[in-house]
Amino acid sequence: MNSFRADLHMHSTCSDGTYTPKELLRHAKKSGLAAVSITDHDTVEAYREAEQSAQETGIEIVSGIELSTELNGTSVHILGYAFNWKHPAIQQLCSRHQTRREQRNKEILKLLGQHGMLITKEDLAAQSPQGKASVGRPHIAKALLAKGYVANIKEAFHHYIGENKRCYVPGEKIDLDTTVSTIRKAHGLAVIAHPHLIKEKEVLRSLLKKDFDGIECYYARFPKEQEARWHKIAQRKNWLVTGGSDFHGSVKPTIPIGCSWVPEETFRILQARYQEAMARDA
Ligand code: AMP
Ligand code: FE
Ligand code: FE
Ligand code: ZN
Repeated sequence: MNSFRADLHMHSTCSDGTYTPKELLRHAKKSGLAAVSITDHDTVEAYREAEQSAQETGIEIVSGIELSTELNGTSVHILGYAFNWKHPAIQQLCSRHQTRREQRNKEILKLLGQHGMLITKEDLAAQSPQGKASVGRPHIAKALLAKGYVANIKEAFHHYIGENKRCYVPGEKIDLDTTVSTIRKAHGLAVIAHPHLIKEKEVLRSLLKKDFDGIECYYARFPKEQEARWHKIAQRKNWLVTGGSDFHGSVKPTIPIGCSWVPEETFRILQARYQEAMARDA
């Protein structure tokens, strides 16, 4: 029996996870995983230390990212895998997201202030101690909690900063086609993230008509029955079947690392592609 498991979806402190890249890799190893991809929101900062740490930890790794995009006014997450993370096309997209986030965070804090909840730039910075992190709503939610404006993170999203709630700001939109073509420019694969979470039927329909390289069929602790639907689509389109936990550490305590994973065969396809991508122009 092959016990090789690869978890291809997780977040570090470079975005909204609570483990540093190094801690994340150690935690993955201790949890029995053989391989991972760290897929931070809109940043590849984790890879500055992740490759070296993976080698030291004895775990295999391929590059990954979860990019925020927009389709017909709805927010859609796209996973990129096995790209050259040093490629200027990826680096430029990440810095565009960074600027987008800085502007958007400012606007959200302003709205919260208008609703009597004062969160300063410094309060927000205190929730992202790594400095270079991809800061966003999860950090704002933690700041709201720290200041006692909400009783828990869920309440922050439910009442104030969740999509279309009173203090929500979508921010500059970065479209889906640009995102997919950027991943491919960096020699990587573009994968639809957690299709299970897309509630708008029309958006899902248009999304599935587009050209991708893969789809995330195994996700978090979603029940097995859900997988068949995405598998069928993957088979029909000849897309790669990916999967992972979407582990965030203590901010999502009910989702353990490795609760969804892919077999060795899938990981080897990505690994071969990743080695090729890193050897090509950056
Ligand atoms: P952002 O990228 O700044 O828009 O933040 C989106 C992230 O916030 C998602 O990837 C989740 O990790 C987190 N998030 C979204 N909705 C919720 C929620 N209802 N409760 C807790 N976390 C959430
Ligand atoms: Fe997240
Ligand atoms: Fe996501
Ligand atoms: Zn994620």
